[in-house]
Amino acid sequence: MKVAICASEMVPFAKTGGLADVVGALPLKLETLGQDVIVVMPKYRCVQQPKFKIQRVKQGVSCSTVGNNVKVYFIENEAYFDRENLYGDKTGDYKDNLDRFVYFCRAALDLFAEINFRPDIIHVHDWQSCLIPVYLRTLYNDKPFYKNIKTLLTIHNIGYQGLFAKEEFPKLGLDWGLFHMEMLEFYGKVNILKGGMVFSDLINTVSATYSKEIQTKEFGFGLEGVLSKRKESVFGIINGLDYDIWNPETDKFIVQNYSIQDIKNKYRNKLNLQELCNLTPDQDVPLLGIVSRLAEQKGFDILSDAMEAICRMDIQMVILGTGDLKYHLLLEGFAKRYPKKFSLHLKFDDALAHKIYAGSDIFLMPSKYEPCGLGQMISLRYGTIPLVFKTGGLADTVNDTNGFVFDTYSKEDLIETVKAALKAFKGKKAWTALMQRAMQCDFSWKESARQYIRLYETARAR
Ligand code: ADP
Repeated sequence: MKVAICASEMVPFAKTGGLADVVGALPLKLETLGQDVIVVMPKYRCVQQPKFKIQRVKQGVSCSTVGNNVKVYFIENEAYFDRENLYGDKTGDYKDNLDRFVYFCRAALDLFAEINFRPDIIHVHDWQSCLIPVYLRTLYNDKPFYKNIKTLLTIHNIGYQGLFAKEEFPKLGLDWGLFHMEMLEFYGKVNILKGGMVFSDLINTVSATYSKEIQTKEFGFGLEGVLSKRKESVFGIINGLDYDIWNPETDKFIVQNYSIQDIKNKYRNKLNLQELCNLTPDQDVPLLGIVSRLAEQKGFDILSDAMEAICRMDIQMVILGTGDLKYHLLLEGFAKRYPKKFSLHLKFDDALAHKIYAGSDIFLMPSKYEPCGLGQMISLRYGTIPLVFKTGGLADTVNDTNGFVFDTYSKEDLIETVKAALKAFKGKKAWTALMQRAMQCDFSWKESARQYIRLYETARAR
């Protein structure tokens, strides 16, 4: 099958979040499963590095290769993409984001004909590439080259929709008839994600539970109605984890590699983390870890309320993260009051993240909603037991056999579940068995990539 993946970011070229990890890993797995894959993304400033060995294809398009022979095409436009960041700066989103991604989507569609790559499937991700399915069924509908091409839209987080003022609609080059509540209009604004949801052949999100949740008012951010109408076309596929990067047996950032066979070696990482964080080195005191954006979505509202109670328990805690200022200030307060128990790191630090995943006993991830979530999958891989709220991808990956789950989103339930985990931690033998079960879970890309191929086939059959 010929597959074109179009997205606004991809590891190793440009990354702001989990989308880049997915787009970095999926094409490589699809290639090993025998698919003919290309990727198309914008050529940002960060892409322009000699190490990427970029070659010119034609005016406005260049290209690099990943995996065995997956071509990554970069859409060039100095004015739009040669910037410090991908989507915006300290002052907010770039004002011309609609112009930028209209340009990207049209250039990507034109590219297929120019390089004579006629995809069976165009797989688009998030609002930035959502105009591709829209244009395919409108402006490109009568062009013979584009006949019968199917589209799949993956929604990574429905909270980000690409909303623009009505006055910007003419920039799309579409008939005003499409500014309609059944199409791109959303409460008087232009909603690009909605356009993608209406015009794509199939839609999926990054976990089965999240694909159901977003069809409800609570999680749908206003688009639940559009999704419910298309519920026969909405699917969920959990993201895989890059097992080359996240592997306790080979991880270069941790002091002691370990595996399920020599799980005791994990404790050398705990002692190292305790030293690094100015906590008393002690194998027996339960160490809770968090690596996260400090945002309400990640559960920091109930966690803030529960912090006092948790800090009074017989525990140690390490938090690594950046995000909302209010949580920075609040957590700094706790770090000052409980310096022997709580170590706070307000920064983005990949090396420390690896040390926390390896060195902690319990990984807290009480997200209010979670499309997929990587933190819990990483912690499972490292034998660090996740404690999560039952939502989205967390509900699909953590259960009573490999972690601790609470199902009412409240500080009380969070505190009770922490207590239950601490009690379980005391039973050494059962805890070791729990760690082993956690490490046995398989969230590699292999199975998820197979599911994507099946979804592409479903789209082709429609
Ligand atoms: P998100 O919604 O932020 O994408 P995920 O759980 O899907 O949440 O992925 C977050 C990824 O970013 C994980 O790999 C996590 O380890 C990493 N991460 C988050 N915050 C930090 C930080 N401050 N330093 C290092 N890594 C971080």
